[in-house]
Amino acid sequence: MSKKSSSGYDLAPLTASERNALAHSLTREERNVILNQGTEPPFCGTLLHNKEPGVYACRLCGLPLFLADNKFESGTGWPSFYEGFDTAHIAEIVDKSHGMIRTEIRCARCDGHLGHVFPDGPPPTHKRYCLNSVSLKFYPRGEEPTQHTSKSK
Ligand code: FE
Repeated sequence: MSKKSSSGYDLAPLTASERNALAHSLTREERNVILNQGTEPPFCGTLLHNKEPGVYACRLCGLPLFLADNKFESGTGWPSFYEGFDTAHIAEIVDKSHGMIRTEIRCARCDGHLGHVFPDGPPPTHKRYCLNSVSLKFYPRGEEPTQHTSKSK
């Protein structure tokens, strides 16, 4: 059964074995963030100062998550966006870890951890999607992200 977002991407969840196969290519730090809800140190991410036009996709499965046009300088040390590529591509989960109540964001297809979303962003959305660089792969304008979809559908 296929499940597509309004922007035309396959959202059928990956099986555990498909996800594990993709995770083989991750570095130790990527594994810690994407699979274990870790956070990279601020001001260290490779995509923090990237201002090229293009799209930011899930590091693990390639689902487009954010457009460069919606990136802004938040001053936090993490890449920040005020809007997602497609709301159906980003799952929100209540996160009560570290003594705070926050909204964790994950890739809607592969369940990879992305970061958190906060209600203190700039207009027009007033949202601040706070990302780990390692959770993302940047594709410059003209390059289409490779989709790693479920083969079982
Ligand atoms: Fe993904």
